[in-house]
Amino acid sequence: MRTPLGRRRPMGCSEVALVLQSYVDGQTRPRTRDRVTEHLGCCAWCAYEAATYREIKNALARRDPVDREALARVRAFAESLLRDEPDGTPTA
Ligand SMILES: [Zn+2]
Repeated sequence: MRTPLGRRRPMGCSEVALVLQSYVDGQTRPRTRDRVTEHLGCCAWCAYEAATYREIKNALARRDPVDREALARVRAFAESLLRDEPDGTPTA
């Protein structure tokens, strides 16, 4: 990373994707959580993914069958990140 330590750098979509599940589970560090929250505030795509994870989590908590469509969306999102890596600097 070229950014000097201690300086806040906006989180990129691929970074958010890595911690999104932990974020939804409330298992990220406060600093990470804040940065993800900040990203979700300005990135509709990641906010949508977070909502999808919550949907899945809630379904699991209720022991409902998981929405297959939601799983497919999450998988497609992960695959799109692998195929076409965003540069990590969303316009905000
Ligand atoms: Zn994003």
